[in-house]
Amino acid sequence: MFRSGIGYDAHRFGEGRKLVLGGVEIPHGRGLEGHSDADVLTHAMADALLGAIGERDIGHHFPNNDPTIRGINSLEIVRKAANLVTAAGGKLINIDSCLIAEAPKIGPHIATMKANLARVLGLDERRVGIKATTNERMGFLGRGEGMAATAVASVEMPG
Ligand code: MG
Repeated sequence: MFRSGIGYDAHRFGEGRKLVLGGVEIPHGRGLEGHSDADVLTHAMADALLGAIGERDIGHHFPNNDPTIRGINSLEIVRKAANLVTAAGGKLINIDSCLIAEAPKIGPHIATMKANLARVLGLDERRVGIKATTNERMGFLGRGEGMAATAVASVEMPG
């Protein structure tokens, strides 16, 4: 049986923060606010993984009042979510995602992001999709107030 899970996340830009996406630190002059490293792409992927096995969301498993995850590298969050998939008897088939932001340009960093996520997910890079789009200057994303990401995971389960 195949199951799919969906994830969505958004973070606002803030001063004095590094921008980390897919585990890659991207020079941009400002980063995303959050309790962890605020890696919006990785958070959306973690929620997709949790959704595929009917688990509760990232906020339940990694609560932002937990001091042990302050400033955590979010690749560790996605690794733990992938471990929950395995523990549930699931086999991750692929994960796809889309980053939505007006800036910065994501293209030059996608190969490194894919390599990072493939490593922590135990997947071939061809099974990790990372795409990016702008929001055509519409709404909060279009005004550059923050970034958002969506993700979909497919998991094979015995039943
Ligand atoms: Mg988040």
